[in-house]
Amino acid sequence: MYPRVVIDEKKLYQNMKRIVEMASLKGIGVFVVTKVHSADVKLAQICLDAGATGLADSRIQNLKKFKDLPCDKILLRLPMHSEVEEVVAYADISFNSELSTLDKLNLAASKANKTHRVVIMFDLGDLREGFLPEQVDEVIPQILKYNALKVEGIAVNLTCYGGVIPTPDNLGELVALADHIESTYDIKLNIISGGNSSSIYLLENGQMPERINNLRIGEGVVLGREAAYGEPIKGTHDDAFVLEAQIVELKEKTSMPRGIIGMDAFGGKPVFEDKGKMIRGIVAVGRQDVDHTALFPTDQGIEIIGASSDHMILDLTHANSNYAVGDVVSFKMEYGAMLKLFTSEYIERYYLG
Ligand SMILES: *Cc1c(COP(=O)(O)O)cnc(C)c1O
Repeated sequence: MYPRVVIDEKKLYQNMKRIVEMASLKGIGVFVVTKVHSADVKLAQICLDAGATGLADSRIQNLKKFKDLPCDKILLRLPMHSEVEEVVAYADISFNSELSTLDKLNLAASKANKTHRVVIMFDLGDLREGFLPEQVDEVIPQILKYNALKVEGIAVNLTCYGGVIPTPDNLGELVALADHIESTYDIKLNIISGGNSSSIYLLENGQMPERINNLRIGEGVVLGREAAYGEPIKGTHDDAFVLEAQIVELKEKTSMPRGIIGMDAFGGKPVFEDKGKMIRGIVAVGRQDVDHTALFPTDQGIEIIGASSDHMILDLTHANSNYAVGDVVSFKMEYGAMLKLFTSEYIERYYLG
């Protein structure tokens, strides 16, 4: 069935293994981040086989799917007050930056007779989640009072919101915070987590500060590229995941619509470039399933012209092969496209073993 995402299991395994090897040379363990494929259990297992040390996701519903896999499950998004019981039940570790939430987690863990491990987030400039570094001595003593929580470590998230790139400076700040916490409060932090796929380039150029011992990697594993500059990671594949969609119409038409132009289906006012007559193809996939601006036809002569909810329109005039109705067109993708494809219930998953 189409449309489908073809997943090359060997390429995914090789991507994960390559990143695990790069990290382990520096004494760094890798949590694989599974949110981009909505926590596909089969893909999570492949990443564990390739050496990932834990499964990390933003959503507790996703971690629930992993309950039978024997490894640490990590909740990355700050827990909602309304989900603390589930967090304690399905996550071994959660990332936190609010005392009121830690309070509720402590109660929930205590009721469940568990010790829940927490990683404390610090905001080092990207302006998404985290305590500010200057609050460290205000918050750490309070967190250490919770009987049912164990401070497993500290972490920073960068690049996702503010676009701030990890550097020896800001990651050095994280290490300094760790040193300070350990010496001031006489505890040992097991995890000093230096970010996501945007930190991979520091592994490649040898600038990762000593003592960073964990990364959480999603994009790097699935797309084979680091996320600070968008460069390919040597020894990985960018086509472990490929979208295939089937052509349902193929005709020669003009490039300019005929009639009075109003709004398109999404409330935008479309603009057109007159390229004369062209060979136009429609494939059966649309904006309900994918962000078409984040797709790249593997036939480089094909251009994506636009898309509505369930149709994507292609310019096949300069395509490198001859297409007909019923043929399948394939696309590589960016992160945003993949996120949506795996969320759409209309997209098949085809595992290439
Ligand atoms: C999504 C997420 C990651 C993974 O990011 P990638 O760029 O896909 O590697 C890591 N940490 C946190 C807190 C996240 O939310």
